[in-house]
Amino acid sequence: MNIFDIKQKNRDKIYFYIRKKKMATKQDIAYDLQLSLPTVTQNLEYLVEQGMIGAECKVANKAGGRNPVAYSYISDAKVAIGLDITRHHIKSIIVDLDGNVIKYIYKRQNYRRDDEYLKLLGEAVEEIIESVKLNRSKILGVSIAVPGLVNHEEGYVIQGRVIDNDGMSCEEFSKYISYPTRLIHDSYASGFSEIWMSTEIHNAFYFSLCDSVGGCVLLNDNVYLGDGLYSGEVGHLNLIPDGGQCYCGQKGCLDVYCNAEVLSSHTDCDLNLFFSKLEQGDEEMQKVWDQYLEHLAMAVTDIRMLFGCTVILGGYVGAHMKAYMPLLCEKVDARGPFGESSKSFLIPCENEIESVATGAALFFVDEFLNDISKEVL
Ligand SMILES: [Zn+2]
Repeated sequence: MNIFDIKQKNRDKIYFYIRKKKMATKQDIAYDLQLSLPTVTQNLEYLVEQGMIGAECKVANKAGGRNPVAYSYISDAKVAIGLDITRHHIKSIIVDLDGNVIKYIYKRQNYRRDDEYLKLLGEAVEEIIESVKLNRSKILGVSIAVPGLVNHEEGYVIQGRVIDNDGMSCEEFSKYISYPTRLIHDSYASGFSEIWMSTEIHNAFYFSLCDSVGGCVLLNDNVYLGDGLYSGEVGHLNLIPDGGQCYCGQKGCLDVYCNAEVLSSHTDCDLNLFFSKLEQGDEEMQKVWDQYLEHLAMAVTDIRMLFGCTVILGGYVGAHMKAYMPLLCEKVDARGPFGESSKSFLIPCENEIESVATGAALFFVDEFLNDISKEVL
């Protein structure tokens, strides 16, 4: 390690120390990190100058005498923006370095493959920035989450069937966005938001139950991308041989039986209405739900057998699952070959609202925090 590396490492250490403690004095830092006071002072001055930490707060000196200055963590020193593009909506979000939502805007807007729509994406970004008078120098970037298989390395949609975005590149989507951008598969974004927020779970399978079914393999706090084309596309595991027609062209895919529309198609495409009718004891909905859970239990068992890790139920249906976990667990347990209780590995998602947009934005936050010495310091 050369002198430059050591300097950067010390700066990182000091920054993450303050991030963890939220507030610390120069003396605490020097003592706990075993660094000299001049080293600490020099780095603190730099971090304050960069706007990464604050230096205003005075703390009481227990020993009497002058109050030492405390340095404080600034969670919104940098922020990231996430866009979630669906068939009928554009959702935008701003999150800070702790994943807190600063602002969220939901817009009903049908997807179209044309320049006008790309302009709308640019406008959505401007609108959310303006709505909170965001200091633009804080913006790390804008992540765009889309349905469809995404080549994350090269940044384009390999296969877009849910919306017409086949072959579209990140540059195309960001034609009217003047910040660094990245393109992310929507299921990966929501899965990432779960693992990023959790301190206990490091490996999991995120099961995304939206209008189409997707998934995301989470390995060591990261998304496992496969070899560049896809991974975790459980929507097209065969559930029922020669079963119902899937949009992919095959028959009997899991997607056909576990997508959210299987439920909402009984209530005029309104999933909330489905669940409120179910709660009120509507018999038709109960039948539909019971059948749905049977299929879901089959799918969960397959996934558990494959990965042997925590399975998180996410997406639109996952957000409603909490109250129905005992029922689902019962069905999963009846199928398990090893007699294990699914309560130990099957959980509903924590992030019930806008996990796609949030997770997308968190990719920029995560990259920033991992690479902090190169990026700013
Ligand atoms: Zn399929």
